[in-house]
Amino acid sequence: MAEQWRVGIGYDIHRLVDGRPLILGGIEIDFPRGLLGHSDGDVLLHAVADALLGAAGLPDIGEMFPDTDPAYKDADSRELLADVVRKVAAAGYQANNLDCIVHAEQPKLSKHKGRMVRAIADIVGLEPAAVNVKAKTNEKLGPVGAAQAISCTVAASLSPLTNKPS
Ligand code: MG
Repeated sequence: MAEQWRVGIGYDIHRLVDGRPLILGGIEIDFPRGLLGHSDGDVLLHAVADALLGAAGLPDIGEMFPDTDPAYKDADSRELLADVVRKVAAAGYQANNLDCIVHAEQPKLSKHKGRMVRAIADIVGLEPAAVNVKAKTNEKLGPVGAAQAISCTVAASLSPLTNKPS
């Protein structure tokens, strides 16, 4: 039987490069550079997926969607996350809340946070109030601070599913 509550953490980092659209938190942000990845590079959705998978005790996103598999080339991370939510439900759990940190020197994300929250809530099946997105700079330190990369850290909590999927 599923335990009452579980928590998980997710972390991911992707390089910021020229010539790619910036897809972050399930939305496109107007910025001259984007995140490099086998998929669309959405580092926030990948960290959300790993937090949910970790909380459910399931294999991580790299095992589930290998970057050596051409099926996931340029994959829409919203679809990958929706698949993760289905797997978490099949394991008997639903998300209660997500707390997300985006570590990014650029771009400034304050005006995009609301749209990211709504996109993530929609995919995971939560009220927007149960999804928190915080943006922090890295105080110009390291590759994130030099705007060579964006990283994300996410905590998720799960509870047993009240309506089992058929
Ligand atoms: Mg990733």
